[in-house]
Amino acid sequence: MPATDPIEHNVYESAEARFELAARKLGLEEGIYRFLKYPSKEITLYIPVARDNGNLEVFIGYRVLHSVVRGPGKGGIRFAPDVSLDEVRALAAWMTWKCAVVNIPFGGAKGGVVCDPAKLSKDELERITRRYTAELADWFGPERDIPAPDIGTNDQTMAWVMDTYAMHVRRATTAVVTGKPLDLGGSQGRKEATGRGVMMCCDRATAKLKMKRKGCRVIVQGFGNVGSQGALLMHAAGYKIIGVADIHGGLYNEKSFDIPKLVDWVYTQRKPLPAFPAGGEKMSAQEILFRPCDILVPAATENQITSQNAQRVDCRILCEGANGPVTSHADPIIDKKGIFIVPDILANAGGVTVSYFEWVQDRQGFFWRENEVNERLQDVMDQSFDQVVAAAERHGVNNRIAAYIVAIERVARAVKLRGIYA
Ligand code: NAD
Repeated sequence: MPATDPIEHNVYESAEARFELAARKLGLEEGIYRFLKYPSKEITLYIPVARDNGNLEVFIGYRVLHSVVRGPGKGGIRFAPDVSLDEVRALAAWMTWKCAVVNIPFGGAKGGVVCDPAKLSKDELERITRRYTAELADWFGPERDIPAPDIGTNDQTMAWVMDTYAMHVRRATTAVVTGKPLDLGGSQGRKEATGRGVMMCCDRATAKLKMKRKGCRVIVQGFGNVGSQGALLMHAAGYKIIGVADIHGGLYNEKSFDIPKLVDWVYTQRKPLPAFPAGGEKMSAQEILFRPCDILVPAATENQITSQNAQRVDCRILCEGANGPVTSHADPIIDKKGIFIVPDILANAGGVTVSYFEWVQDRQGFFWRENEVNERLQDVMDQSFDQVVAAAERHGVNNRIAAYIVAIERVARAVKLRGIYA
């Protein structure tokens, strides 16, 4: 097999493989299987944007609506140079399953623009975002499809989406998008929500495996929204963060890192993560995944753990902060090693759960205290974790397939209740 097998590295194939396995295990009816396998809509956009130097460039953008069976589409917008339709398709399907796993009333969607935010000015990014949103103004809406941030986009991007949409529909519509700044109808706790959800899953998993949380050794790959917030919260809760990495490289220190200082180093001082003083042993961003630890949290990007390297993973719990960090070809190897997996569609669902809370608050025009947000998130994560683990035991499958089973059962029930129109 070549170093990067295009089939193994196609996230759509990975998502499909798990869906098929779970659907077969469930004995899903053939018609419903076909209905849920395909997205409901795929839109490709060619976005003309004037660069700062006056040149006109055309960027390719996508929006895929996988399912609106349980509610409006929900899913982030990704700005990255390697965005592809297959990737957006997979991420949209994962959103359907993720929203169903945590039982929130959304379907699944995802969007992306092929661009490199690191090489674009703020003004250029604003123009791309506004044109992308304007092209999709008929498809977006609080009861249609609600975007959120993902890799390469943030709360500022969401503010531009909201403003552009509001200008088109001629009314302030904060609920069209989540992950907004607090001043524009964002929710308390949203910035930390995905990382907090990851920690809540780790708390539940360590309790299930009768492991002591205090001093539990954790490695986090990815130091963006999910990784840095997750690491900060876990550090504060007594976990020992012994490995960190971002796109520039990894650092390993058995004695553990002072995460608030590292966050300050990376985000306030804007210094490269691998240059963190007293940072320990330097290594590649991928090598960090293979150091011994109790909990491994891949929170960067897809296809990090593959059939080529899964054998080297040395942890007790693998909690997927990122979407699709483990390929479907690596699943059996991870299983065989007896690693307790908390799959992406559960582990990183804290983000979409608090996005749901944000949407509810925007529609109510009434905002909750941070404690209220976090308590409600805890209820959702604990309940979902327990349901997935119970399904794994009931069906004799790993937690990943169990999460798909829980999700597919919920979506299939909604399909049956609604029926097929016309
Ligand atoms: P981000 O852009 O804020 O951060 C990504 C981080 O990963 C950065 O530190 C970057 O340097 C690092 N990175 C990128 N490629 C890497 C590589 N090859 N090796 C090591 N590090 C690498 O993105 P984010 O919002 O934190 O999202 C990370 C993952 O979590 C993505 O898979 C995303 O889809 C998923 N996710 C995010 C949210 C959310 O609320 N932000 C919710 C659910 C899932």
